[in-house]
Amino acid sequence: MMPFTLESTSDATLRLFLKRVRTHDLMAFLQRCTPEAVERVLLQLSDRSREFMRTAHWGADAPERVVRAEALLERCAAGNESCIFCAILAGKAPASFIYRDDSVAAFMDLYPVTPGHLLIIPTAHAASLSKVDPTVAAHIMELAQRLGRAVSASSLGCDGFNLFLANGGAAGQDIFHAHLHILPRFHGDGFGFRFPGHYPREAERELLDQQAAHLRAQLEE
Ligand SMILES: [Zn+2]
Repeated sequence: MMPFTLESTSDATLRLFLKRVRTHDLMAFLQRCTPEAVERVLLQLSDRSREFMRTAHWGADAPERVVRAEALLERCAAGNESCIFCAILAGKAPASFIYRDDSVAAFMDLYPVTPGHLLIIPTAHAASLSKVDPTVAAHIMELAQRLGRAVSASSLGCDGFNLFLANGGAAGQDIFHAHLHILPRFHGDGFGFRFPGHYPREAERELLDQQAAHLRAQLEE
């Protein structure tokens, strides 16, 4: 048995945990759980994620991933997730600021993927993009435009840049205060998205029309 059991976790805590945990941490964590506990977790996931989890090759045990997942579950249960970005904004943790006003701030990423990698955040805590005030979200994008120009014109001398925003653990979000990455890119820098095996394959128009219709209906709700 693992030190912190899923059996004693409420559904609300479990849902929060599943939003925040990274896929590979979850897979390592589930290897330590009873089949009943694994089933309880899988039932909370989307159909697509559940199918992936059931058919994935689960690989060797990864102790550091298990520890990270267990720590996250405990924080979710305790409801006391401390936010490093709020600590930075309050001057309680260091950061190298580029810009700050009443609603947004930009500083260098402590773990840069490429030289010049920076983050733009709302100054009001918001766990995900959907919780950011739309006016502030627009301001974040306007700042991204200006900082993108600055990064390109600076002595960093990048060849291009990506904007990247992860929403949820499955998308790679690990700090639950919404943040937009500006990633300077250099030919041959080794960074990139990994595409699934079937890509690229053109989709059926009927399927795309169906999906668009679902989304239009959802927008109106
Ligand atoms: Zn925060």
